[in-house]
Amino acid sequence: MGSLEKVIDADACVGCGGCSVATGGAIPITLTPYGTYLPELDGVAPEVEEVGALACPFADTTPDEDELGAALYPQADSDPRIGRFTGLYVARIEDDETVVGSSSGGLTTWIVAQWLRDGVIDGVIHAGPGDDLLFMYVVSTTADELYGRRKSRYHAVEFSQAVSQIRGDGKKYAFVGVPCMVKSVRHICQGDEVLAGQIVRTVGLVCGHMKSAAYGESMAWQLGVSPTEVETVDFRVKNPGMLSRQYSFGALGPGGWKTAQTASLVGGNWGHAVFQLGACNYCDDIFAEGADVAVGDAWLPRFEGDWRGTNVIVTRRTDVDEMFAAGSTNGELWVESVSADAVAHTQAGNFRHRRQGLAVRLHDDDSAGRWRPRKRVEASVDGPDRRRIELIRRRRELSHVSHDLFLEAKRAGDLSRYLTRVRPYLDRLDRLGKPSLLSRVTLRLQREFWRSMAWLRERTRHVRHREIQGK
Ligand SMILES: Cc1cc2nc3c(=O)[nH]c(=O)nc-3n(C[C@H](O)[C@H](O)[C@H](O)COP(=O)(O)OP(=O)(O)OC[C@H]3O[C@@H](n4cnc5c(N)ncnc54)[C@H](O)[C@@H]3O)c2cc1C
Ligand code: SF4
Ligand code: SF4
Repeated sequence: MGSLEKVIDADACVGCGGCSVATGGAIPITLTPYGTYLPELDGVAPEVEEVGALACPFADTTPDEDELGAALYPQADSDPRIGRFTGLYVARIEDDETVVGSSSGGLTTWIVAQWLRDGVIDGVIHAGPGDDLLFMYVVSTTADELYGRRKSRYHAVEFSQAVSQIRGDGKKYAFVGVPCMVKSVRHICQGDEVLAGQIVRTVGLVCGHMKSAAYGESMAWQLGVSPTEVETVDFRVKNPGMLSRQYSFGALGPGGWKTAQTASLVGGNWGHAVFQLGACNYCDDIFAEGADVAVGDAWLPRFEGDWRGTNVIVTRRTDVDEMFAAGSTNGELWVESVSADAVAHTQAGNFRHRRQGLAVRLHDDDSAGRWRPRKRVEASVDGPDRRRIELIRRRRELSHVSHDLFLEAKRAGDLSRYLTRVRPYLDRLDRLGKPSLLSRVTLRLQREFWRSMAWLRERTRHVRHREIQGK
C-alpha cells in the first residue's frame, strides 16, 4: 500500500489538499457526501503518490512537529506541551466595537493586518465564506477583506485551490490554518522553492478538532434552517454580559438570522466531538508547532468572565513579540505575558483528548492490528482509569457514527432521524464525563468571581472614559 493510501484507509486524512499542491494537481481533492475532503488516488501512479505524501501531515515519510519546530525556530525556548516559543501571552484588541466581530480577542486578524499594512505580505490565505460551500480557503489582499472574513470556521476546508492560485504570482503571503494545515504547508515549502519564497508568514489556530460541513448544517437545521436553505452560519456569536464560552450559533436563512446558545443545541458541546474528522483522532499538535505564531482562546476562569473573548498566544518570532509591545504601547492591544503552565491550562480538555486519549486510541489500533500514523505519544492504556478509557472509546465511536446518522437524516429530509438516534450516544458520554459535585461548584464559583471582576473593570473603564470626555 502507498503512503497516502495508508493514511486514507486509516481515516487519518484531514483533507487539507497538501498532496494535491505538491503534485501540481495530479492528485485531485474531492468533496465527499459527508462534507469532508478526500484525495482521489484512482489512476495516480505510485511515484506520484509518494511525492504527494511528502506534504502529508499524517504520512510517516514526513518530519514530526518536534523536528519541524527545531529546524524552523532553533533559537527559541521549548516546552513539550507547546513546542518552540519566544513569547507566551494572553491578549485582546482594545477596540470594543471591533472585537465583537472576531471569535476571540481578535489578535489573529490584527496580526495579519499589521503584516499587510507594513508591506511584509501582499495577502492572506485563510478561510472565508464560499460560493457553493459555506466556507472555503480564500485569498484576502485588503484590510477590509480581512476584517470581513473574521471568525472561526468549524467546517472542513482544503487549501489546494487557493495555494495553487497564488503560486508564482510574485507576491508574498501569510497562511492561516489549523496546526495540521500549517504543517502540510511547511512540508510543501520544503520541496517547492517558489511557494517557500511566497508564503513568508504562518499563523496557526489552536485546534481541538475539525468538524465536517455537517456540523454547521445540523446546528442550522435545529434552528429551522434546513441544509438546502442555509446561506451562511456564524459559529461564534458573542453574548454581552455572559461568559466568553457561552457564545451562540447563528444561521442565516430565508427568514433572516436565527441564533441560539451553542451549548443548547445537540452537538454544541465541544467535548461530544460530533462530526469530528477521523484525522483528529491521531493529532498531537495543539499549538501549531510549525507556525510563526499560534492563536487560541484563553479558556481559563479568569478570562472567561469577560464576554469579549481573550486570546492565548504563542509566538515563535521575536518580530511578532516586538509588534505586540508596540501595539500595547500605542493602546491598540491589551497584552499580558503568562507562563507555559498557564498557556497549557487554557487547553486542559484538549490535552486530555490528545495525550491520554491519543495513547488509548493508538493502543486500540495496535491491538486490532490496524496501521496508524507514527506519533510522538506512545500507545498505552496505563494511566487513565477504566471510566476515562471508556469515555475515550465512546467519544471516538460517537464521532464516527455521527457522520452516517446525519447523512441518512439529510437524505430523508428529516432532522429527527439524526436527533433521536444520536441521543443515546450523547447521554452515555455525559454519564461517563460528569465531573464531581465539588469540581462543578468550585469551577462555578471561580467563573462567577472572575465575571464580577470583569464587570467591575468594565464599569471603571466607562467611568474613566466619561471623566475624560467631560474634561
Ligand atoms: C477547527 C477549529 C478548532 C479550534 N479549536 C480550538 C480549541 O480547541 N481551543 C482554542 O483555544 N481555540 C481553538 N480554535 C481557535 C479559535 O476558535 C479562534 O479561531 C482563535 O482563538 C482566533 O480567534 P481570533 O479572535 O484571534 O480570530 P479572528 O480575528 O476571528 O480571525 C480568525 C481568522 O482565522 C481564519 N480562520 C478561521 N477558521 C479557519 C479555518 N478553519 N481554516 C483557516 N483559517 C481559518 C479566518 O479566516 C480569520 O482570518 C479553533 C479554530 C478552528 C478553526
Ligand atoms: S491529509 Fe492532506 S496531504 Fe495527507 S492525504 Fe489527506 S489531503 Fe493529502
Ligand atoms: S485536531 Fe489536529 S488533525 Fe484535527 S484539524 Fe486540528 S490540527 Fe488538524
